[in-house]
Formats: sequence, C-alpha cells, structure tokens
Amino acid sequence: MSSFEFKTIAAIATPTGYGGIGIIRISGDQALELTLHLLKNSSEISFSPSEASFHILTNPHTGVTIDEAIITYFKAPRSFTGEDVVEIACHGSPVVLSELLRLLTSFGADLAQPGEFSMRAFLNRRIDLTQAEAINDLIHSQTTYQAKVAARQLRGELSKQLQPFKEELKNLIVHFESAVEFVEDDLDELNLNIYTLKLDHLIEKLLGLSDSYRIGRVIRSGVKLTLVGRPNVGKSSIFNSLLGLDRAIVTHVPGTTRDTLSETFAIDGIPINLIDTAGIRDTKDIVERIGVERTKTAITEADLVIAVIEANSPITSEEIDQLEDFPIGILLINKCDLGLSLSHETIKSLSEKYPLIHASALTGQGIDELKVAIQRQITGDNQTIIESAIITNERHYKALEQTIEFLRDARRDLNAGFTEEIALANLHLALRNLGVITGETLIADLINQIFSTFCIGK
Ligand code: GDP
Repeated sequence: MSSFEFKTIAAIATPTGYGGIGIIRISGDQALELTLHLLKNSSEISFSPSEASFHILTNPHTGVTIDEAIITYFKAPRSFTGEDVVEIACHGSPVVLSELLRLLTSFGADLAQPGEFSMRAFLNRRIDLTQAEAINDLIHSQTTYQAKVAARQLRGELSKQLQPFKEELKNLIVHFESAVEFVEDDLDELNLNIYTLKLDHLIEKLLGLSDSYRIGRVIRSGVKLTLVGRPNVGKSSIFNSLLGLDRAIVTHVPGTTRDTLSETFAIDGIPINLIDTAGIRDTKDIVERIGVERTKTAITEADLVIAVIEANSPITSEEIDQLEDFPIGILLINKCDLGLSLSHETIKSLSEKYPLIHASALTGQGIDELKVAIQRQITGDNQTIIESAIITNERHYKALEQTIEFLRDARRDLNAGFTEEIALANLHLALRNLGVITGETLIADLINQIFSTFCIGK
C-alpha cells in the first residue's frame, strides 16, 4: 500500500492512432483485481511481480474475445508510481484500446488525468520533482542532446548536485540556531568570520549552478538566430546553406525576402530557430516597409544576430551604423568566392569587434566554421558542461536565484551587525527555496500546475 490513498486509475499510455502495440496502464490498489475481470478463468491465474505473461482479453459481459496481450504486473512499492501497477500490452488498435479502457472504468477505475501517474510517483517518493519534470522533457525532446540532458536529470543528477548545498546550509542553520538558543554559544568575531566565509562560498557555488541556465535554457528551448544585412548580400543563401535546403527564395533583385522566414535546425543537438529577414533599407514599398519592421522585431527578439556583409563591395556607412545599432554576435563576410575588396584595415578593425567568418554560400566555404562559431556563441568554449548537471528549467532557475537572494540578505544582515536571529530567518527561507526545486517543499498549486502539462498515461 502506498503512503497516499488514491483511487485506481487507468489510461492508454501509447500515442493515439494505429500501432504495432498499444499499452494500457493501470495504477492503484485494485490494478490487478480490475485486470482479472478481463481474463477468463481468472481464479486460476496468478501473476508474479515484474514478470510478463501472455493472456487472452475477453469482454466479461459478452464473453467475446477482444485481443491477445502481454500483461506485466508491478507490485507496490516496486513500480513506477509506487502503487500496484499493471501494464496491458495489446495490439495498437484505437478501437481495442478504447474498449479495454471503457471496460476498466466500468469495473471501477478512474480515467487518469494528464501526468497523474508521474504525480503519484512523486507523491509516493519514487522520484523527486526534478526527475518528474525530466520525464516530460525527455518525452518532448526534439534533439538527442536535449534527450541526453533530460535523461541525466531523470537519473537524479540535479538533486544529487543540490544535496551538498542543502547539507552546508543546514549546518550553518544549526550553528546559528545554537548561537541564538544558548548565550554561551554566541558567535564571537572569529566564528562569525568563519561562517560568513562559508556563506560566501555557498553563494558562489550556487551562482555557478544558476549560471549554467544560460546554456541550459537554450538546450531546452532552442536559440533564436537572426540573419541581418543589406538586401542582396546573400542572407537567404546563407539561410539555405545552414539548413541544407532551398527554403528561402534566392534572387539577385534586392528585397526578395519581403517578410521574415523561419526554420528550425540543430547544431550539435541544440535546436536553432533560424530567421531570415528582409534586411533593413529605406523603402517606399509598403510591403517591404512591413518586412523591414519585422526585421527590427526579429533582431530585438533574437538570442544571436549574424550580420552578413559582402566581400566584393566596400562596407557602406549604413552597414557600419547597423553593426553598431544591433548586438551582433557574428559578422559574416559572404561571397568570398568573388574575391575580397574590403581593405585589410577594415577587416582588422571589424575582427577586433566581432567574431569574423569568411564564407561563400555559393561554394559552401566557411559554413562549417559558421556552425562552430554559432555553437561557441551559445555554449561558450566549455564543451564539457554536459558532463555535469545543468539548470534547464526556468522554475529551477528562479528558485535558485531566490535562494541566492535570501543567502545574500543573510550575509548583509551579518555584515550590518544584526543578531544571528535575523540572518537565521533568511537562511531558513533559502533552504525552503532549495526544497522547492526538488519538491521537498510542497506547494500544491505548483505541483498541480507542473503535472497538468504532462500527457495522459504518463
Ligand atoms: P539576400 O537578399 O541578402 O537574402 O541575398 P540572396 O541570398 O537572395 O542572394 C542575392 C544574390 O547573391 C543571389 O543572386 C545569390 O545567388 C548571390 N549570392 C549569394 N551568396 C553568394 C556567394 O557566396 N557567392 C556568390 N558569387 N553569389 C552569391
């Protein structure tokens, strides 16, 4: 029996549509009993925990065979949810699966809500909140890199990484509490210095973790990358080269890309939403003017801007102004196959300000270097970041930032010579906030909100 008393739930755990196999998942005290209603001569059947066995599923009201199935019984607490769980793997027919689900509910099962299996797993302490969230991330990952990061979190990496911080914080709290409780334990100057140093150390380590969100955020949500530049410099051609297909229309008439185009591709598993813009130029054409406005919006919203200029014509004052107006991540000199007419001085002064790539969309020269430069801009030089737990989730990031804030407040209180009691209140708040990440600090609304984004059957 699990520590929480819930009704038995059932759901189709495989995607809707036709498939080789379809799975119904049942969780709760009655999981096995309800399943037995679907089997003839059920009194003669016994299930061994964690073993799969072959059965014929029958409608008990009509006696008609529904399907053949492999049934696996997971006995509480050694199951995903921590409750008794049965998984019925039959043929992936929507009709069969619906009939089975309808029968199970007629026997007494409730239809599972989105994420309800994972929520039970969390409430029964089979997984913590970061692991539950990782299941959702893993299911929805679009690249293998995202999946790898989610799988790491699913194995509890983040919680493991947080554990020593919690211990350090608890130790500090114990010392401060004893100073508050017993006058003879009052912190003298020396001890106070030791504890403030410990606090600084903790803040520094937490800052390191929260800083990983810079990369974690893009791994989870992708990066918005915008191409800008004068019309006809080859933005659409670069866009196509990066995507490896002819998505944008390429012509020699300036202003062909009148609107912004966007496509998603991946560099080393990081999803990149590439936006090709109309370019910025003075124009009376109303449609083009809208395109120029959209370009400006795309630049404002971009995580990374690549400015494209031409190798075979001098850089214009308008282009220089644009480079200075926008946060340019990479400067790309395109059409290098036509020879370089930019002066040595111009190139030197540009390369001091921006990472510079020489390329030709026509020949493919520099496209691989461009991809490496894009990746560098996103993840920095540190390619080993994946080897340690990183923050990918905004909720975790915010809780971490809040924790750091409370610790800084405690630090400030101590510096200002306030009593340990005041600092202690902030230390407790910090600990509580760390607990919000893993779900040790239970906030019902938050829990419901998180699991409602899951799919049914998970
Ligand atoms: P956009 O207006 O900036 O998007 O420019 P396009 O991609 O439409 O290209 C404008 C013209 O330049 C087209 O005729 C392209 O074929 C040509 N072009 C683009 N890139 C290169 C390149 O690297 N070398 C050469 N020789 N021509 C290019």
